[in-house]
Amino acid sequence: MLPVYLDHSATTPLAPEVLQAMLPYLQHAFGNPSAIYTAGQEAREAVERAREQVAQLVNADPDDVYFTSGGTESDNWAVKGVVRAWGSRRSHLITTSIEHHAVLEACEAVREMGWEVTLLPVDRYGIVDPDEVRRAITPRTGLISIMHANNEVGTIEPIAEIGAIAREHGIPFHTDAVQTVGRIPVDMQALNVDLLTISAHKLYGPKGVGALVVRRGTPLRPLLDGGGQERGRRGGTYNVPGIVGFGAAAERALLHMAEETERIRALRDRLVQGILERVPDAVLTGHPTQRLPNNAHLAFADVEGETLVLSLDAAGIYCSAGAACSSGDTEPSHVLVAMGIEPRLIEGSVRFTLGKDNTEEQIDYTVEQVAKAVQKLRSLRVSR
Ligand code: PLP
Repeated sequence: MLPVYLDHSATTPLAPEVLQAMLPYLQHAFGNPSAIYTAGQEAREAVERAREQVAQLVNADPDDVYFTSGGTESDNWAVKGVVRAWGSRRSHLITTSIEHHAVLEACEAVREMGWEVTLLPVDRYGIVDPDEVRRAITPRTGLISIMHANNEVGTIEPIAEIGAIAREHGIPFHTDAVQTVGRIPVDMQALNVDLLTISAHKLYGPKGVGALVVRRGTPLRPLLDGGGQERGRRGGTYNVPGIVGFGAAAERALLHMAEETERIRALRDRLVQGILERVPDAVLTGHPTQRLPNNAHLAFADVEGETLVLSLDAAGIYCSAGAACSSGDTEPSHVLVAMGIEPRLIEGSVRFTLGKDNTEEQIDYTVEQVAKAVQKLRSLRVSR
């Protein structure tokens, strides 16, 4: 039963079938897809198959899929690439105060270039109001970037509605879908999205590979200039094993997502209910229903989140305090601050994110251990 891994929003283990698909490309099938001889062309075919698998998962045209080194690069490319494509014709972008740092920092870089950046607020549940997006648009607006689901609290944003507003105004619309692709259905057409960020390691694929899916006609300059790979839009020798693994992970997600999601949602509800029943003064953070099916973000008054994470680690349970992507960070979470959560709850917040291999037994054990650890940490605090 141990360890109990409950940090799937930070990363997921490689699925066995993904590893199997990758192995030949880490061993004998090492050709460079840009080479014209047979070994190169075999690798090229594998890359193109993966492109189709990824496209199918998000209902996109395979020609619109560009492989990158992961979510961070795709976010940077979307923001900086669209801004550079506009040149001096536009000078304003709209995003939110709860984006991943990859988007926020890219926007900061763009601000230094002279663009104005509007950071939209969110409500107590982390939801962005589409009317606020509409009100923020000016004739100078050249990009709207709003995440599909938040990586900390799991809140799912009204992306289709926001996308329709962007389209009405002819403004390119980017969504960071790193936390949703593979967990809930993501259909680029239905969501009215022009640029979509994906990262393979959140859907049981390898780390260091992802994609930016770009609807044809979207203004976008390259971020990485180089040897003309990816139809001249993203330089760099293909990470063939990574891309093949990404494709296999996408295919796996299509096959198993519906059944896995329901099982994981039931386990997540069991975890939340168990903790709320057993632990006094625990609250569920984020939206009660519009949230990722695997996310339980809880705040415990009078407990330090990081200390609780370490206590649970000692019991063989892995979870995270705040956003694990930027761990080592002792600043309060920008997401929880933007949601207006009280500081004493922010301090005691812990994220549990479930995955395909978790079991009821593990969840019941976690509830027990959380109840025990919180009680102990609170008693130590009182006696200090
Ligand atoms: N965007 C979101 C919402 C994320 O959660 C993460 C990572 O956790 C990233 C972007 C960065 O992705 P990557 O780790 O592939 O660079």
